[in-house]
Amino acid sequence: MTANLRGAPRVSDSAAPVLLPRRALLQMAMLSGGASLASVLVDPTAQAAASRREQEGQERFDRATRGVPSPRIRDVRVIQVGGGGINDSTVVKVETDQAGLYGYGCATDTFPGGRAKLVAAAVEQYLKPLVMGRTADRIEQIWQICYMSSYYKNDTVLNCAIGGVCDALWDIKGRQAGMPVYQLVGGKCREAAEIYLHANLGAQDPSRQFVENSLQLVHGGCRNVLAAMFGRDGATNDLYGRARFDDGSAAFDRDKEMRKILDAFTAFRSQMPPEVGLGVDVHSILDPIRATQFARELEPFHLFYCEDLFSPEESGHYQIVREQCTTPLAIGELWNNPHEWQPLVQARQIDYIRHHVSHVGGFTAARKIAAFAENFEVKFAWHGAPNSPVGHMTNLTLDLTCENFGIHEHMPYPPLVEDIFQGCVQIKDGYAWINEKPGWGIEVDEALAARHPITDEHPNEFRTPDGSVIEGTG
Ligand code: MG
Repeated sequence: MTANLRGAPRVSDSAAPVLLPRRALLQMAMLSGGASLASVLVDPTAQAAASRREQEGQERFDRATRGVPSPRIRDVRVIQVGGGGINDSTVVKVETDQAGLYGYGCATDTFPGGRAKLVAAAVEQYLKPLVMGRTADRIEQIWQICYMSSYYKNDTVLNCAIGGVCDALWDIKGRQAGMPVYQLVGGKCREAAEIYLHANLGAQDPSRQFVENSLQLVHGGCRNVLAAMFGRDGATNDLYGRARFDDGSAAFDRDKEMRKILDAFTAFRSQMPPEVGLGVDVHSILDPIRATQFARELEPFHLFYCEDLFSPEESGHYQIVREQCTTPLAIGELWNNPHEWQPLVQARQIDYIRHHVSHVGGFTAARKIAAFAENFEVKFAWHGAPNSPVGHMTNLTLDLTCENFGIHEHMPYPPLVEDIFQGCVQIKDGYAWINEKPGWGIEVDEALAARHPITDEHPNEFRTPDGSVIEGTG
């Protein structure tokens, strides 16, 4: 575009399309309306006509500058799907006024205990009225409108709702451009994302089972495995010899679980190829002094990371651990308020930030978090277990486009999930590959999804054998 010193448009001599400023095009549209601006000013019904003309002017501008009009949000719907063996998924579908142009965004409030019904209400009853009729182009502005709409911020429910709506707008933008979202934010800085998979220990001979299960994953091409400290593996009996309390919660012995993991890791390092990566997810089930001791005992195993050693409420203990050992530390799936985790990143007390991306407000927010962490040489490893396939593709897009990618958590999908969500992340030789289709590249079989309602599972509750309730997820 060329312009004189007063900013007025000037006809170009070149054969390239002439891109005129929006104001000039709006003026042209108004003046070309025949009935003229004067009639608008005197006609009591002119407001609507002016709005139409303004819209026509906008459309002319859009066609001149981008070939198609800016899409406007026509509908916002929530699609919730039972997991078929993994977590329930919540996906937001945003439809536009352009035929066939829509997008999906992940709003999954993860894990048993995620408040899926509340997320649906937050989308449909609070955010939908805010965004209806707005141009789908303005993702950052709409994100801010949604975020600021609540005086109380950063709970997982509202953040998931925001992430779902705004990530659907990224999908729309990609579909409109005919490009994967990664192309819209600067393109790839790596070809694929290295993954880790979960290996179970089992109840009988857990060390042997862990090595066997890990070998199976390695033979499938994966080079990194992680053991999760869960109620299911650390289960014991209560004081009356029962595996479960009357309310169904599991009795759990923290010392027994710690020893089981350390024994299994000793077997792993003595029997597995040394280059295979090893990690552990503590799920915040240890009290602070046990956790500190555990981190020190893990040091000889050279983990890729120890995850969620402490809960957000115990964050002050990370400094203590940092001063005592070099076990790499990762946090995030329980942390969604920046004021919780930013001090740990700034103080370099953790090595990986690993939010559940929808819990922090989706792709728009996660890109900023990644950039913040990059300044402190902290990597990211987004929470991926479990997540909707749309969310996994969002994670992978961040992995491929941000410098400080660490590792990608993957959980294989049951066949039902792959049937409902077509275009899932593909795993080859230990790497996650993006599908290269426009947007997130995922299509949802909504008819099939409707036949599999969410289970809305409640969280497993952990208790010590005497019945005391302890911290933990899962
Ligand atoms: Mg975890």
